[in-house]
Amino acid sequence: MEFQRRGVMLVIASPSGAGKSSISRALFAQDPNIRLSVSVTTRARRTDEVEGTHYYFVDVPTFNRMRADGELLEWAQVHDNFYGTPRARVEEQLAAGHDILFDVDYQGTLQLYEKSRSDMVTVFILPPTIKELRARLERRAQDSVGTIEKRLRNAKIEMAHYSEYDYIIINDDLEASTQKVRSILAAARLARQRLGQLDNFVKDLQNQIDSL
Ligand code: GDP
Ligand code: ADP
Ligand code: 5GP
Repeated sequence: MEFQRRGVMLVIASPSGAGKSSISRALFAQDPNIRLSVSVTTRARRTDEVEGTHYYFVDVPTFNRMRADGELLEWAQVHDNFYGTPRARVEEQLAAGHDILFDVDYQGTLQLYEKSRSDMVTVFILPPTIKELRARLERRAQDSVGTIEKRLRNAKIEMAHYSEYDYIIINDDLEASTQKVRSILAAARLARQRLGQLDNFVKDLQNQIDSL
């Protein structure tokens, strides 16, 4: 049986190319209770990305307006572009007991910590080697050579923040890494503080003993 509970805010971060989008997609495909937080970004759309599924692609004035109007739960500048998490959907989904997966950088993670630490579980994905990280960025074939170089340099900054995360996964095998994230989420769903009616449930069990 399942208790009514608050949703888990599952944050997955990594240097670009380490595999967080692949892991997120695999999790999402297997678990109907997970919702993805779709960010707004000022970055150009990659050819395989769909508006509203991967990101909401906006121009800088629109992003600034959303930021000024308090529509973003957090925002950051990453690799020269702006990224932000729209607030409304997150609040709706959490209240409905759905778990939400966030793909945000370390700056976004810190801002979410300030607001919602008790609802959050955070995972940092590392690549097995930097040679492999570069190979993955090249294999993905969605970014120019200059962009790949910039992302590799930024990997050093992002990785410097690994110790701010609850769990660390080295993504050498996609299926195994996805399974690890699934286990982390399964444990988080059972955390005592997330189960609202536990007091009543235990009281009822105790009453059943009394009436034996
Ligand atoms: P990727 O690193 O190859 O997945 O490239 P993206 O362009 O999709 O993401 C760039 C960076 O922006 C990553 O570090 C993401 O985690 C981060 N990012 C994406 N969306 C958000 C967001 O809504 N808020 C914050 N703070 N960071 C985000
Ligand atoms: P991120 O979202 O962290 O930037 P992606 O999920 O887009 O990374 O992964 C970058 C590339 O590496 C993609 O082409 C993806 O198919 C590939 N990839 C991800 N995980 C693995 C893995 N464990 N082994 C080999 N290739 C991987
Ligand atoms: P990409 O451009 O490759 O999709 O994303 C680059 C980086 O931006 C990734 O590290 C990703 O996690 C981060 N990012 C994407 N969306 C958001 C967001 O809404 N907020 C923050 N803070 N970072 C984001």
